Amino acid sequence: MTIKPHGGVLIDRILRGEEREAAIARAASLPRLYLDSWETSDLELIANGAYSPLTGFMKRADYEKVVGEMRLENGLVWSIPIVLGVSREEAESLRGAGEAALYSEKGLLLGLIKVEEIYPYDKEEEARQVFWTTDPAHPGVRRLYRRKELLLGGEIVLVNREKPALFPELYLDPRETRRVFAERGWRRVAAFQTRNPIHRAHEYLQKCALEICDGLFLNPLVGETKEDDIPAVVRVKCYQVLLAKYYPRERVFISAFPAAMRYAGPREAIFHALVRKNYGATHFIVGRDHAGVGNYYGTYDAQLIFDEFAPEELGITPLFFEHAFYCRACGGMASSKTCPHGDEEHVFLSGTKVREMLAKGEVPPEEFTRREVAEVLLAYYQGRNGG
Ligand code: ADP
Repeated sequence: MTIKPHGGVLIDRILRGEEREAAIARAASLPRLYLDSWETSDLELIANGAYSPLTGFMKRADYEKVVGEMRLENGLVWSIPIVLGVSREEAESLRGAGEAALYSEKGLLLGLIKVEEIYPYDKEEEARQVFWTTDPAHPGVRRLYRRKELLLGGEIVLVNREKPALFPELYLDPRETRRVFAERGWRRVAAFQTRNPIHRAHEYLQKCALEICDGLFLNPLVGETKEDDIPAVVRVKCYQVLLAKYYPRERVFISAFPAAMRYAGPREAIFHALVRKNYGATHFIVGRDHAGVGNYYGTYDAQLIFDEFAPEELGITPLFFEHAFYCRACGGMASSKTCPHGDEEHVFLSGTKVREMLAKGEVPPEEFTRREVAEVLLAYYQGRNGG
Protein backbone atom coordinates (compact mmCIF):
# COMPACT_ATOMS: atom_id res chain seq x y z
CA MET A 1 0.00 0.00 0.00
CA THR A 2 1.36 3.41 -0.93
CA ILE A 3 1.49 6.20 1.62
CA LYS A 4 -1.60 8.39 2.02
CA PRO A 5 -1.42 11.78 0.31
CA HIS A 6 -1.43 14.92 2.47
CA GLY A 7 -5.00 15.41 3.68
CA GLY A 8 -5.94 11.83 2.69
CA VAL A 9 -7.06 12.31 -0.93
CA LEU A 10 -4.95 12.76 -4.04
CA ILE A 11 -6.43 15.79 -5.78
CA ASP A 12 -7.18 15.55 -9.49
CA ARG A 13 -8.33 18.69 -11.22
CA ILE A 14 -7.30 17.77 -14.74
CA LEU A 15 -10.37 17.85 -16.95
CA ARG A 16 -10.80 15.24 -19.65
CA GLY A 17 -13.29 14.41 -22.43
CA GLU A 18 -16.54 16.36 -22.58
CA GLU A 19 -15.91 18.27 -19.37
CA ARG A 20 -12.68 19.56 -20.86
CA GLU A 21 -14.35 20.51 -24.15
CA ALA A 22 -17.04 22.39 -22.25
CA ALA A 23 -14.47 24.28 -20.18
CA ILE A 24 -12.51 25.23 -23.31
CA ALA A 25 -15.69 26.52 -24.94
CA ARG A 26 -16.59 28.52 -21.83
CA ALA A 27 -13.12 30.05 -21.63
CA ALA A 28 -13.66 31.95 -24.89
CA SER A 29 -16.06 34.37 -23.23
CA LEU A 30 -14.21 34.76 -19.90
CA PRO A 31 -11.77 37.46 -18.79
CA ARG A 32 -8.17 36.37 -19.38
CA LEU A 33 -5.25 36.18 -17.01
CA TYR A 34 -1.70 35.42 -18.13
CA LEU A 35 0.41 33.31 -15.75
CA ASP A 36 4.19 33.51 -15.52
CA SER A 37 6.25 30.32 -15.56
CA TRP A 38 6.21 30.10 -11.76
CA GLU A 39 2.40 30.34 -11.54
CA THR A 40 2.00 27.99 -14.50
CA SER A 41 3.97 25.30 -12.70
CA ASP A 42 1.96 25.84 -9.51
CA LEU A 43 -1.28 25.50 -11.47
CA GLU A 44 -0.15 22.15 -12.90
CA LEU A 45 1.03 20.90 -9.53
CA ILE A 46 -2.30 21.78 -7.91
CA ALA A 47 -4.17 20.05 -10.74
CA ASN A 48 -2.12 16.85 -10.75
CA GLY A 49 -2.30 16.40 -6.99
CA ALA A 50 1.33 17.16 -6.13
CA TYR A 51 0.03 19.97 -3.90
CA SER A 52 -2.79 17.90 -2.36
CA PRO A 53 -4.93 18.94 -0.49
CA LEU A 54 -4.90 22.28 -2.37
CA THR A 55 -7.64 22.52 -4.99
CA GLY A 56 -6.84 26.04 -6.14
CA PHE A 57 -4.77 29.15 -5.50
CA MET A 58 -5.04 30.10 -1.83
CA LYS A 59 -7.81 32.25 -0.48
CA ARG A 60 -7.14 34.74 2.26
CA ALA A 61 -7.81 32.52 5.30
CA ASP A 62 -5.42 29.82 4.03
CA TYR A 63 -2.83 32.35 2.88
CA GLU A 64 -2.69 34.22 6.17
CA LYS A 65 -2.54 31.10 8.28
CA VAL A 66 0.15 29.56 6.08
CA VAL A 67 2.23 32.72 6.34
CA GLY A 68 1.70 33.13 10.08
CA GLU A 69 1.45 29.56 11.37
CA MET A 70 2.51 27.15 8.61
CA ARG A 71 -0.97 25.66 8.51
CA LEU A 72 -3.97 25.76 6.23
CA GLU A 73 -7.22 27.09 7.63
CA ASN A 74 -8.29 23.49 8.38
CA GLY A 75 -5.16 22.96 10.50
CA LEU A 76 -3.18 20.78 8.06
CA VAL A 77 0.52 21.61 7.91
CA TRP A 78 1.51 23.73 4.88
CA SER A 79 4.51 26.01 4.84
CA ILE A 80 4.64 27.90 1.52
CA PRO A 81 1.96 30.20 0.06
CA ILE A 82 0.66 29.02 -3.31
CA VAL A 83 -0.89 32.14 -4.76
CA LEU A 84 -1.86 33.91 -7.95
CA GLY A 85 -0.97 37.60 -8.23
CA VAL A 86 -3.25 40.02 -10.09
CA SER A 87 -2.86 43.71 -10.82
CA ARG A 88 -5.53 46.30 -9.91
CA GLU A 89 -6.53 46.52 -13.59
CA GLU A 90 -6.89 42.75 -13.82
CA ALA A 91 -8.90 42.73 -10.60
CA GLU A 92 -11.17 45.37 -12.15
CA SER A 93 -11.64 43.23 -15.27
CA LEU A 94 -12.75 40.31 -13.07
CA ARG A 95 -15.50 42.30 -11.37
CA GLY A 96 -18.75 40.35 -11.67
CA ALA A 97 -17.04 37.39 -13.40
CA GLY A 98 -17.60 34.01 -11.78
CA GLU A 99 -14.59 32.51 -13.55
CA ALA A 100 -11.47 33.57 -15.41
CA ALA A 101 -9.47 31.81 -18.11
CA LEU A 102 -5.80 31.16 -17.31
CA TYR A 103 -3.26 31.41 -20.12
CA SER A 104 0.45 30.70 -20.24
CA GLU A 105 2.97 33.34 -21.27
CA LYS A 106 2.96 31.71 -24.71
CA GLY A 107 -0.79 32.16 -25.01
CA LEU A 108 -1.91 28.57 -24.40
CA LEU A 109 -5.18 28.16 -22.52
CA LEU A 110 -4.17 26.26 -19.38
CA GLY A 111 -7.29 26.21 -17.28
CA LEU A 112 -9.98 28.11 -15.43
CA ILE A 113 -10.17 29.63 -11.98
CA LYS A 114 -13.27 30.41 -9.96
CA VAL A 115 -13.06 34.05 -8.94
CA GLU A 116 -13.78 33.47 -5.26
CA GLU A 117 -11.75 36.15 -3.55
CA ILE A 118 -9.43 39.02 -4.44
CA TYR A 119 -7.46 40.35 -1.50
CA PRO A 120 -4.54 42.58 -0.57
CA TYR A 121 -1.51 41.19 1.26
CA ASP A 122 1.61 42.35 3.02
CA LYS A 123 4.72 41.39 1.05
CA GLU A 124 7.16 42.31 3.80
CA GLU A 125 5.29 40.21 6.32
CA GLU A 126 5.30 37.25 3.91
CA ALA A 127 9.03 37.74 3.29
CA ARG A 128 9.83 37.91 7.00
CA GLN A 129 7.78 34.84 7.87
CA VAL A 130 8.45 32.60 4.89
CA PHE A 131 12.03 33.58 3.99
CA TRP A 132 13.13 34.82 7.42
CA THR A 133 14.43 37.99 5.76
CA THR A 134 13.11 41.06 3.95
CA ASP A 135 16.38 41.49 2.04
CA PRO A 136 15.61 41.95 -1.68
CA ALA A 137 18.99 40.35 -2.47
CA HIS A 138 17.44 37.00 -1.46
CA PRO A 139 16.20 35.44 -4.74
CA GLY A 140 12.88 34.27 -3.26
CA VAL A 141 12.20 37.63 -1.65
CA ARG A 142 13.11 39.42 -4.88
CA ARG A 143 10.61 37.24 -6.71
CA LEU A 144 7.94 37.95 -4.07
CA TYR A 145 8.49 41.71 -4.33
CA ARG A 146 7.90 41.46 -8.09
CA ARG A 147 4.58 39.64 -7.61
CA LYS A 148 1.46 41.64 -8.52
CA GLU A 149 -0.29 43.79 -5.96
CA LEU A 150 -3.35 41.64 -5.14
CA LEU A 151 -4.00 37.91 -4.83
CA LEU A 152 -6.77 35.95 -6.51
CA GLY A 153 -7.95 32.89 -4.61
CA GLY A 154 -10.19 30.19 -6.00
CA GLU A 155 -10.51 26.62 -7.21
CA ILE A 156 -8.90 25.73 -10.51
CA VAL A 157 -9.24 23.19 -13.27
CA LEU A 158 -6.64 22.33 -15.89
CA VAL A 159 -7.44 21.75 -19.56
CA ASN A 160 -4.02 21.91 -21.24
CA ARG A 161 -0.39 21.83 -20.23
CA GLU A 162 2.63 23.18 -21.95
CA LYS A 163 4.76 20.42 -23.39
CA PRO A 164 8.10 20.19 -21.66
CA ALA A 165 10.78 21.31 -24.12
CA LEU A 166 13.11 18.47 -23.11
CA PHE A 167 12.88 15.02 -21.51
CA PRO A 168 9.06 14.71 -21.62
CA GLU A 169 9.45 11.15 -20.32
CA LEU A 170 10.65 12.56 -16.99
CA TYR A 171 7.43 14.44 -16.27
CA LEU A 172 5.28 12.11 -14.20
CA ASP A 173 2.25 12.99 -12.13
CA PRO A 174 1.95 11.73 -8.54
CA ARG A 175 -0.59 9.18 -9.71
CA GLU A 176 2.03 7.71 -12.04
CA THR A 177 4.97 7.71 -9.60
CA ARG A 178 2.72 6.05 -7.02
CA ARG A 179 1.91 3.35 -9.56
CA VAL A 180 5.60 2.81 -10.30
CA PHE A 181 6.45 2.40 -6.60
CA ALA A 182 3.55 -0.03 -6.13
CA GLU A 183 4.56 -2.07 -9.19
CA ARG A 184 8.12 -2.27 -7.93
CA GLY A 185 6.88 -3.39 -4.53
CA TRP A 186 8.67 -0.52 -2.78
CA ARG A 187 7.25 0.04 0.68
CA ARG A 188 9.92 2.44 1.91
CA VAL A 189 10.74 5.05 -0.70
CA ALA A 190 13.35 7.72 0.01
CA ALA A 191 12.88 10.92 -1.98
CA PHE A 192 15.77 13.22 -2.83
CA GLN A 193 15.28 16.85 -3.79
CA THR A 194 18.00 18.63 -5.70
CA ARG A 195 18.59 21.65 -7.89
CA ASN A 196 22.21 20.77 -8.54
CA PRO A 197 24.27 18.21 -10.40
CA ILE A 198 24.80 15.20 -8.14
CA HIS A 199 28.12 15.45 -6.38
CA ARG A 200 29.73 12.78 -4.23
CA ALA A 201 28.08 14.15 -1.06
CA HIS A 202 24.62 13.85 -2.62
CA GLU A 203 25.47 10.34 -3.80
CA TYR A 204 26.58 9.41 -0.29
CA LEU A 205 23.28 10.59 1.24
CA GLN A 206 21.29 8.77 -1.40
CA LYS A 207 23.21 5.54 -0.96
CA CYS A 208 22.90 5.67 2.84
CA ALA A 209 19.15 6.00 2.29
CA LEU A 210 19.21 3.10 -0.17
CA GLU A 211 20.79 0.95 2.53
CA ILE A 212 17.69 1.35 4.69
CA CYS A 213 14.88 1.90 2.16
CA ASP A 214 13.55 -0.20 -0.73
CA GLY A 215 14.08 2.41 -3.39
CA LEU A 216 15.43 5.88 -4.13
CA PHE A 217 13.14 8.42 -5.75
CA LEU A 218 15.39 10.97 -7.37
CA ASN A 219 13.17 13.98 -7.91
CA PRO A 220 15.22 16.93 -9.18
CA LEU A 221 13.50 20.27 -9.23
CA VAL A 222 13.36 21.51 -12.81
CA GLY A 223 11.19 24.64 -12.52
CA GLU A 224 12.49 28.18 -12.38
CA THR A 225 15.81 28.55 -10.51
CA LYS A 226 18.14 31.49 -10.03
CA GLU A 227 20.31 32.49 -12.95
CA ASP A 228 23.62 31.08 -11.80
CA ASP A 229 22.19 27.61 -11.06
CA ILE A 230 23.07 24.96 -13.65
CA PRO A 231 20.15 24.63 -16.13
CA ALA A 232 17.90 21.59 -15.69
CA VAL A 233 18.76 20.15 -19.09
CA VAL A 234 22.46 19.96 -18.20
CA ARG A 235 21.67 18.52 -14.79
CA VAL A 236 19.49 15.82 -16.28
CA LYS A 237 22.43 14.74 -18.46
CA CYS A 238 24.55 14.56 -15.30
CA TYR A 239 21.93 12.40 -13.58
CA GLN A 240 21.75 10.06 -16.53
CA VAL A 241 25.50 9.43 -16.80
CA LEU A 242 25.78 8.96 -13.06
CA LEU A 243 22.82 6.60 -12.70
CA ALA A 244 23.99 4.51 -15.64
CA LYS A 245 27.35 3.83 -14.06
CA TYR A 246 27.05 3.99 -10.28
CA TYR A 247 23.52 3.02 -9.21
CA PRO A 248 21.58 -0.25 -9.28
CA ARG A 249 19.07 0.49 -12.01
CA GLU A 250 16.13 -1.32 -10.45
CA ARG A 251 16.46 0.45 -7.11
CA VAL A 252 16.33 4.03 -8.38
CA PHE A 253 13.54 5.93 -10.07
CA ILE A 254 13.99 9.42 -11.47
CA SER A 255 11.33 11.92 -12.43
CA ALA A 256 11.16 15.69 -12.59
CA PHE A 257 9.66 18.02 -10.00
CA PRO A 258 8.50 20.95 -12.13
CA ALA A 259 8.08 23.50 -9.31
CA ALA A 260 9.97 26.77 -9.03
CA MET A 261 12.72 26.97 -6.44
CA ARG A 262 11.85 29.37 -3.62
CA TYR A 263 15.15 29.22 -1.68
CA ALA A 264 13.04 29.40 1.50
CA GLY A 265 15.35 26.99 3.37
CA PRO A 266 13.50 25.51 6.41
CA ARG A 267 10.00 26.35 5.22
CA GLU A 268 10.77 24.92 1.80
CA ALA A 269 12.11 21.71 3.36
CA ILE A 270 8.70 21.09 4.94
CA PHE A 271 6.98 21.91 1.66
CA HIS A 272 9.35 19.64 -0.29
CA ALA A 273 8.68 16.79 2.12
CA LEU A 274 4.88 17.09 1.95
CA VAL A 275 4.89 17.26 -1.82
CA ARG A 276 7.15 14.18 -2.07
CA LYS A 277 4.68 12.34 0.16
CA ASN A 278 2.05 13.16 -2.45
CA TYR A 279 4.31 11.60 -5.09
CA GLY A 280 4.36 8.45 -2.96
CA ALA A 281 7.59 8.76 -0.97
CA THR A 282 7.67 7.60 2.65
CA HIS A 283 11.03 9.17 3.56
CA PHE A 284 12.62 12.47 2.62
CA ILE A 285 16.33 13.32 2.70
CA VAL A 286 17.27 16.63 4.34
CA GLY A 287 20.97 17.43 4.47
CA ARG A 288 22.89 20.61 5.16
CA ASP A 289 21.24 23.95 4.40
CA HIS A 290 18.40 22.35 2.44
CA ALA A 291 16.93 24.77 -0.14
CA GLY A 292 19.09 27.50 1.35
CA VAL A 293 20.90 30.33 -0.35
CA GLY A 294 23.67 32.66 0.88
CA ASN A 295 23.83 32.89 4.66
CA TYR A 296 20.17 33.40 5.44
CA TYR A 297 19.70 30.10 7.28
CA GLY A 298 21.73 28.11 9.78
CA THR A 299 23.27 24.90 8.42
CA TYR A 300 20.69 22.66 10.13
CA ASP A 301 17.67 24.99 10.45
CA ALA A 302 15.90 23.02 7.72
CA GLN A 303 16.16 19.94 9.95
CA LEU A 304 15.24 21.66 13.22
CA ILE A 305 11.98 22.98 11.77
CA PHE A 306 10.66 19.39 11.58
CA ASP A 307 10.53 19.40 15.40
CA GLU A 308 7.76 21.98 15.26
CA PHE A 309 5.33 19.31 14.04
CA ALA A 310 4.18 15.96 15.34
CA PRO A 311 5.44 13.16 13.05
CA GLU A 312 1.90 12.08 12.14
CA GLU A 313 1.04 15.64 11.05
CA LEU A 314 3.70 15.39 8.37
CA GLY A 315 3.20 11.71 7.59
CA ILE A 316 6.54 11.46 5.76
CA THR A 317 9.69 10.61 7.71
CA PRO A 318 12.64 12.96 7.33
CA LEU A 319 16.11 11.42 7.01
CA PHE A 320 18.60 13.95 8.36
CA PHE A 321 22.23 14.07 7.28
CA GLU A 322 25.16 16.05 8.56
CA HIS A 323 27.45 17.89 6.22
CA ALA A 324 29.13 15.15 4.15
CA PHE A 325 32.58 15.21 2.55
CA TYR A 326 35.32 12.95 1.25
CA CYS A 327 37.94 12.24 3.90
CA ARG A 328 41.41 11.31 2.61
CA ALA A 329 42.37 9.72 5.92
CA CYS A 330 39.20 7.60 6.04
CA GLY A 331 39.52 6.91 2.31
CA GLY A 332 35.82 7.48 1.69
CA MET A 333 32.79 9.66 2.17
CA ALA A 334 32.01 10.61 5.76
CA SER A 335 30.57 13.25 8.05
CA SER A 336 31.43 14.54 11.50
CA LYS A 337 29.28 11.69 12.82
CA THR A 338 31.60 9.07 11.37
CA CYS A 339 35.00 10.71 10.84
CA PRO A 340 37.53 11.68 13.55
CA HIS A 341 39.93 13.60 11.26
CA GLY A 342 40.48 17.31 10.84
CA ASP A 343 39.41 19.64 8.04
CA GLU A 344 42.80 19.31 6.35
CA GLU A 345 41.86 15.75 5.36
CA HIS A 346 38.45 16.70 4.00
CA VAL A 347 37.66 17.52 0.39
CA PHE A 348 34.79 19.94 0.23
CA LEU A 349 34.15 22.61 -2.36
CA SER A 350 31.44 25.26 -2.30
CA GLY A 351 29.12 25.61 -5.27
CA THR A 352 30.75 28.94 -6.07
CA LYS A 353 34.23 27.39 -6.07
CA VAL A 354 33.11 24.58 -8.39
CA ARG A 355 31.51 27.07 -10.78
CA GLU A 356 34.74 29.09 -10.83
CA MET A 357 36.81 25.98 -11.59
CA LEU A 358 34.50 24.85 -14.37
CA ALA A 359 34.40 28.32 -15.89
CA LYS A 360 38.22 28.20 -16.08
CA GLY A 361 38.09 24.76 -17.70
CA GLU A 362 39.44 23.01 -14.59
CA VAL A 363 38.14 19.58 -13.62
CA PRO A 364 36.90 19.37 -10.00
CA PRO A 365 38.62 16.58 -8.03
CA GLU A 366 37.26 13.06 -8.35
CA GLU A 367 36.62 13.04 -4.59
CA PHE A 368 34.13 15.84 -5.09
CA THR A 369 32.49 15.02 -8.42
CA ARG A 370 32.54 11.82 -10.46
CA ARG A 371 34.54 12.25 -13.66
CA GLU A 372 31.52 11.46 -15.88
CA VAL A 373 29.55 14.27 -14.26
CA ALA A 374 32.48 16.68 -14.43
CA GLU A 375 32.76 16.04 -18.17
CA VAL A 376 29.11 16.98 -18.78
CA LEU A 377 29.56 20.13 -16.70
CA LEU A 378 32.80 21.11 -18.44
CA ALA A 379 31.18 20.72 -21.85
CA TYR A 380 28.37 23.01 -20.73
CA TYR A 381 30.74 25.67 -19.40
CA GLN A 382 32.94 25.49 -22.47
CA GLY A 383 29.86 25.92 -24.67
CA ARG A 384 28.87 28.97 -22.64
CA ASN A 385 32.31 30.46 -22.98
CA GLY A 386 32.03 29.98 -26.71
CA GLY A 387 34.86 27.42 -26.59
P1 ADP B 1 18.74 22.25 -2.53
O1 ADP B 1 18.55 21.74 -1.15
O2 ADP B 1 18.69 23.73 -2.59
O3 ADP B 1 17.90 21.57 -3.54
P2 ADP B 1 21.14 20.76 -3.28
O4 ADP B 1 20.71 20.28 -4.60
O5 ADP B 1 22.57 21.14 -3.16
O6 ADP B 1 20.29 22.03 -2.88
O7 ADP B 1 20.87 19.72 -2.13
C1 ADP B 1 20.07 18.60 -2.24
C2 ADP B 1 19.99 17.91 -0.89
O8 ADP B 1 21.30 17.47 -0.51
C3 ADP B 1 19.53 18.79 0.26
O9 ADP B 1 18.79 18.01 1.19
C4 ADP B 1 20.83 19.27 0.89
O10 ADP B 1 20.63 19.58 2.25
C5 ADP B 1 21.70 18.06 0.73
N1 ADP B 1 23.15 18.34 0.63
C6 ADP B 1 23.81 18.97 -0.37
N2 ADP B 1 25.15 18.99 -0.16
C7 ADP B 1 25.36 18.34 1.01
C8 ADP B 1 26.52 18.00 1.79
N3 ADP B 1 27.77 18.29 1.40
N4 ADP B 1 26.33 17.32 2.95
C9 ADP B 1 25.10 16.98 3.38
N5 ADP B 1 23.97 17.27 2.70
C10 ADP B 1 24.08 17.94 1.53
